[in-house]
Amino acid sequence: MNNAPDFAADEPWALARDAADPLAPFRGEFLIPPHHSSEQVAAGALANGQQVYMCGNSLGLQPRATRQALLDELDDWAELGVEAHFRGKHPWMPYHECVREPLAELVGAEPAEVVAMNSLSVNLHLMLVSFYRPTRERCAILIEKSAFPSDRYAVESQIHFHGFDPATVLIELAGDEANGTLSDAAIARALDEHGSRIALVLLPGVQYLSGQVFDLKRITELAHAKGCVVGFDLAHAAGNLPLSLHDSGCDFAVWCSYKYLNSGPGAVAGCFVHARHARATLPRFAGWWGHDQSTRFQMGPQFMPTPGADGWQLSNPPILALAPLRVSLDIFHRAGGTRLRQKSLALTAYLAWLIETQLSHIVEIVTPREPERRGCQLSLRIKGERGAGRALFEHLSAHGVIGDWREPDTIRVAPTPLYNRFIDCLRFAQVVAAWHRA
Ligand SMILES: *Cc1c(COP(=O)(O)O)cnc(C)c1O
Repeated sequence: MNNAPDFAADEPWALARDAADPLAPFRGEFLIPPHHSSEQVAAGALANGQQVYMCGNSLGLQPRATRQALLDELDDWAELGVEAHFRGKHPWMPYHECVREPLAELVGAEPAEVVAMNSLSVNLHLMLVSFYRPTRERCAILIEKSAFPSDRYAVESQIHFHGFDPATVLIELAGDEANGTLSDAAIARALDEHGSRIALVLLPGVQYLSGQVFDLKRITELAHAKGCVVGFDLAHAAGNLPLSLHDSGCDFAVWCSYKYLNSGPGAVAGCFVHARHARATLPRFAGWWGHDQSTRFQMGPQFMPTPGADGWQLSNPPILALAPLRVSLDIFHRAGGTRLRQKSLALTAYLAWLIETQLSHIVEIVTPREPERRGCQLSLRIKGERGAGRALFEHLSAHGVIGDWREPDTIRVAPTPLYNRFIDCLRFAQVVAAWHRA
């Protein structure tokens, strides 16, 4: 699994592996933040003054093309004013449509099933309005105990909104595996036990703390068999793994675009509504941009939703925020999901191998070992006394190795296949080892 025999913990091996990587040129399409330190200059092959950026799980890096894409929109605005809606280089009126196809490709959906709009938490609320329809008998929501706070706040507030009490209605699944991760069996047991009173199951595609991948199709089948609606938060899955949202059968999904999708801070998020709901008369919070496109500008008093995910749009789209998403999705399209996953598996396997063979006395990997149960991220727990983890994290940052820190003892590192290299993984291991020796 991780003990692939051809790995080696030295620079010539890592550099040769990078040189043979067909996706290596994509790194050149990104702006890698600089890092200046005398130590790094002395480090030979690594002395390029760039960070070892392994934080794409938190904020992806800026594609070089993003700046010009934004300037294009500013220029169209300056030169065409309102006419840019129709005559711009990328006309604003149908702008969200030019991200639709690549977005659908990215998450394995039909084009009409996806829309880029709002932010993740807003989209989650819009979806809950339509898909959490509690009755007296069936009013519970199943989430995981270590759910991302925003997801928890969203479902708790929706439960209150419907007049129920989260203390009795919110069911939280605790991890049952040694590392605190959650087995499929535990999900199946919870559904067996509580399924008849669960209205909605909300789980992640990739768990943000542990990096665990969830099997969307299997969970959907289990939950649907009990009559529950199923939604997924794909914040850490979109752009990290190939997804097959349509085939998974889930009812809805939401994700953000500033993590693996490299679309900039607070970028426009994504939303998926399965085709079977395209024309359903679900209750929803409506706005004029969700109105049937052919009659939208007749400005009539009666809301008629556009079929598909577009029907959940509220406002006309923020063009300046969509431009970076358009650039990013073009990169993903050219790189290709299969090739990205292939490289990602090798890159993360190499990092895991380095940790297990060189650093096992310093850190342990929390993320599941099976390649199909993880994306690119590894979550590490630091051994040793309290405070050691934070000290190691600060040491890494001071040496230009950027991961992120989650209280109380977790460092997350995410080598992403678009811009990370095998030499980055080696550099991480070298810096951790040097910290321990010091
Ligand atoms: C990053 C993340 C969010 C962030 O929500 P925003 O609305 O984009 O601020 C929500 N949920 C999960 C699981 C996340 O990882």
